Amino acid sequence: MARHGTILIPMTAAAGLCAAVLFGTASHVLAACQPPAAFPKWLQGFKQQAVAQGISPRTVSAALDGVSYDPATIAKDRGQAVFAQSFLQFSNRMVSSNRLQVGAQLLKKYSGTFAKIQQQYGVPGPVLVAFWGLETDFGKVMGNMESIRSLATLSFDCRRPEKFSAELLDALRVIERGDLSPREMRGPAHGEVGQFQFQPSTYYNYAVDFDGDGRRDLIRSAPDSLASAANYLRSIGWQPNQPWLEQVRVPADLPWDQADVTIKRPRLFWAKHGVTYLNGQPLPGDNVSTSLVLPMGRNGPAFLTYPNFDIYTEWNNSLVYSLTAAYYATRLAGAPPLAKGNGPVAVLSAAETKEIQQLLAKRGFDVGKIDGVVGAATRNAIRATQIKYGMPADAYPTAELLSRLRAGR
Ligand code: CA
Repeated sequence: MARHGTILIPMTAAAGLCAAVLFGTASHVLAACQPPAAFPKWLQGFKQQAVAQGISPRTVSAALDGVSYDPATIAKDRGQAVFAQSFLQFSNRMVSSNRLQVGAQLLKKYSGTFAKIQQQYGVPGPVLVAFWGLETDFGKVMGNMESIRSLATLSFDCRRPEKFSAELLDALRVIERGDLSPREMRGPAHGEVGQFQFQPSTYYNYAVDFDGDGRRDLIRSAPDSLASAANYLRSIGWQPNQPWLEQVRVPADLPWDQADVTIKRPRLFWAKHGVTYLNGQPLPGDNVSTSLVLPMGRNGPAFLTYPNFDIYTEWNNSLVYSLTAAYYATRLAGAPPLAKGNGPVAVLSAAETKEIQQLLAKRGFDVGKIDGVVGAATRNAIRATQIKYGMPADAYPTAELLSRLRAGR
């Protein structure tokens, strides 16, 4: 559950260590890092702080004695490269026929567990299995870096020390509680742990023991992992017996500027404008709150999202990831395969998208980070420009928009 703004694929980078180097962007410059040689002294101070926070000296010592600075963690953190992937690219890759098959098998295998979870937390099995598949291939790929070492290194590092110090303290609390030993805690570079890649704070606050062995074991126990994910989802607002996402068909004309994940409309609004289910059946003309989401513009796949979809963007604030996880869950729950939409969609390269962002920024729009990834700010700027040009305002970047921006009209 990486709460990144975009789908991030870590790459090895030549960023090097940051002794006395300033890292930052034009808008905010961060404090200078200390050289790695200062790590042991920092660690001594952190241990005292942990004991002062009520963690036993025994746990602090078991987890942190002999822990060293990890250059590999820093290289991964600095090297996070952003790759823009279209919804179809990402969802086709992630929701493979194999993942659909294995997901269906696991729903059967753990049907008793899922029934109990549904009863206790109100979260359906397919929703959990979809996250399970996307996060770790159902517990098969959980990462192999030492979480405590990664968290200590990132706490010492100058970029987000408060965030990671808090996570490290919660990791110690998870150990203190007897859920996991320090050696068992392994994962990707930012301290995420277990079959659902919980951050330590999520682990500490939401993990439950569902198989009754007295430990909350999110590494080896599937029932503990599934129920913990359900407990977390329910705690952040999942509404039982409510939909999260449905594929729909959109007509040739719509008030496209209303199609955005942040704009809520009663389902009646879309029904009136001719949005239907995939099979052509009309939508109910009721007041259920929905958003029309077009991840690839008006010619691409179309979805209605429901209030439960907000829980997906809380899990991971990438819209492409969230739509993929939500769509995967609908497939496991019996929905038909993806309908590509009304026509082929040309996907701009990251460089072209970046150029659109630069041209919009030059015109005074806030487009967020100029990185070739279309987030909420870029969508808003594109929509406003489409309206100005009299183009269908679906907030999707196209070659036509780029050429008009280049022409400066
Ligand atoms: Ca257990």
